[in-house]
Amino acid sequence: MKRLAILTSGGDAPGMNPAIRAAARVAIYRGCQVFGVKRGYAGLIAGDIEPMTPRSVGGIIQRGGTVLQTARSPEFRTEAGRLEALRKLNQAGIEGLVVIGGGGSLTGALELHRQGFPVVGVPATIDNDLAGTDMAIGVDTALNTALDAIDKIKDTASSHQRAFLVEVMGRDSGYLALMASIAGGAEYVVVPEVDTDLHRLALELRDAYVRGKTHAIVVVAEGAKYNAAAIDHFFKANQDQIGFETRVTTLGHIQRGGAPSAFDRILATRLGAAAVEELLRGASGVMVGLVHGEIKATSLESVLAQQKELDMQAYELGRILAQ
Ligand code: ATP
Repeated sequence: MKRLAILTSGGDAPGMNPAIRAAARVAIYRGCQVFGVKRGYAGLIAGDIEPMTPRSVGGIIQRGGTVLQTARSPEFRTEAGRLEALRKLNQAGIEGLVVIGGGGSLTGALELHRQGFPVVGVPATIDNDLAGTDMAIGVDTALNTALDAIDKIKDTASSHQRAFLVEVMGRDSGYLALMASIAGGAEYVVVPEVDTDLHRLALELRDAYVRGKTHAIVVVAEGAKYNAAAIDHFFKANQDQIGFETRVTTLGHIQRGGAPSAFDRILATRLGAAAVEELLRGASGVMVGLVHGEIKATSLESVLAQQKELDMQAYELGRILAQ
């Protein structure tokens, strides 16, 4: 295999750049020609494929986002779109592809593998909802961004004796919310994986108020049954039951931006390098991931068939610590 391409797809995640850099440089070191596909599968279908050199990936390790850009491509979900993508890969003489992205992107990668094209996936999504890796690229940085915000919100919450509902990203997963709540010392967390009774939550907030807490932080996962605005609406209608005045902060896209953390840079570097090594040894249809501290390849089929469970021990611990 002499000509490899790299693409980033789906939602961007901090650390995609160090993964691109590592994959490109390891492949070049191994004697390959390397190409970057712009704008994910959309750019692949358009044939937007450019040569990469060790210099063209210089100065990006510390940058958030992705220099290859990313996109969501409805066309690639169709058979015709995927055939066009394969045609463009063949026209450019590409023999193997590294796909860096989340669950949707890796589902697309599996489709290419099923068509007989060699492809290896790298997990990059701030949601941390992928099996086959303890951590996906971007999660640690997003968590630190959420924490920074929670720390600041706590200062103002304490000054005014307020309860803040802080909504974090994570799609259908409560991972980011749970870990942000534990590391941020929040009083409560609302996640999609656990049913939340709003009356009970209100009573618990009231208890915290009566116990003399100067603030209460409730971290809400965006995919939970009730979002932060809905919970706030409920609280406002029952203000006399709670004690605290309530406010909402939705962190939104700031969680996707920013320089990747040391953890994300190292993880991305190891995974980008491992993806190329897997392709060069003839593997395809696999995702490289961090499993109990080691880099391992797992079949995409198995990764995509599994639902990552929320760590319920961590959830219970968070409740104990919110005294
Ligand atoms: P994140 O979860 O971080 O937002 P993601 O990779 O899961 O990232 P998606 O928007 O779900 O983001 O998927 C990205 C792209 O992958 C889609 O726009 C589409 O081109 C491709 N894709 C997703 N699902 C499929 C599928 N079932 N078949 C083929 N391609 C798919």
